[in-house]
Amino acid sequence: MAAKPYIIALEEHYLDSEVKQHGGPGAGPEIVSRLDDLGQLRLHEMDEAGIDLQVLSHSIPGLQTIDAETAVPMARRVNDRLRQAVERHPDRFAAFAALPTADPEAAADELERSVTTLGFKGAMVNGLTDGVFHDDRRFWPIYERAQALDVPIYIHPALPHPAVVETYYKDYVHQHPGILRAAWGFTVETATQGVRFVLSGVFDAYPGLKIILGHMGEGLPFYLWRISHGLRATMNARSFRDIFCAHFYITTSGFFSDPALLCSVMEMGIDRIMFSVDYPFADNPLGAKWTETLPLCAEDKEKLLSGNAKRLLKL
Ligand code: MN
Repeated sequence: MAAKPYIIALEEHYLDSEVKQHGGPGAGPEIVSRLDDLGQLRLHEMDEAGIDLQVLSHSIPGLQTIDAETAVPMARRVNDRLRQAVERHPDRFAAFAALPTADPEAAADELERSVTTLGFKGAMVNGLTDGVFHDDRRFWPIYERAQALDVPIYIHPALPHPAVVETYYKDYVHQHPGILRAAWGFTVETATQGVRFVLSGVFDAYPGLKIILGHMGEGLPFYLWRISHGLRATMNARSFRDIFCAHFYITTSGFFSDPALLCSVMEMGIDRIMFSVDYPFADNPLGAKWTETLPLCAEDKEKLLSGNAKRLLKL
């Protein structure tokens, strides 16, 4: 029998005790107890599933819903505490920073401190900041700094904008609350962020900028042909697909489907796709079991499970 492959998962969440007082993810006690744990329970569940390294990130809503005055000093404390968790198990954990995006310059500074002082591998932002998509120019100082530091920014979903909930989903929220989240609402909002990043010109301004999307690229790989075709009149020099495939990386978080993976490989190539679970919102064994039957050759499987993440995050 072949040795167990080394597995890195990079959209794996926790909940900081101080941030929690400003709002949580709206999850049940089973999930919250796992978000709270950065020790034995988490390590035990990683061991059971054969996950060797988690790149930790703060759960939704994180610092994106907290005002600048509060979030800027809090971000330092949050990231310092996360650093301590990584220090306790440096062979099992790495980290993405939480950023106080309500003050983009301060967020850029905190990104730099987190990477250069705390050894973090990039940052994750959740949903929108005060109802504004993160491609907006006010946030570009963060991307300028990310390029200078050569670290990726992970664009993660959160609950959709209240106006969207009201217009698109409210008829079904009561019976099917998942419609706002993993079932559809997360996908629509975060795919929209991805499209908007390409349209914004941020990748012309910062050609080294790298963006990660979870959940198999929030569906965008499946739509690359149609989006590129639909934008061909105004994007004739460089297509939507060209820009997306040059700057985006995707993960398999909470999306363990062979057809979705193969479509993504066909559109983007294997080098930009990384395994993730989305712990504890998705179960480690569900993701780990899937990796045992991936329709990939050994070389590509190694890239998906750890090689691509090692290269991108310099692990
Ligand atoms: Mn997640």
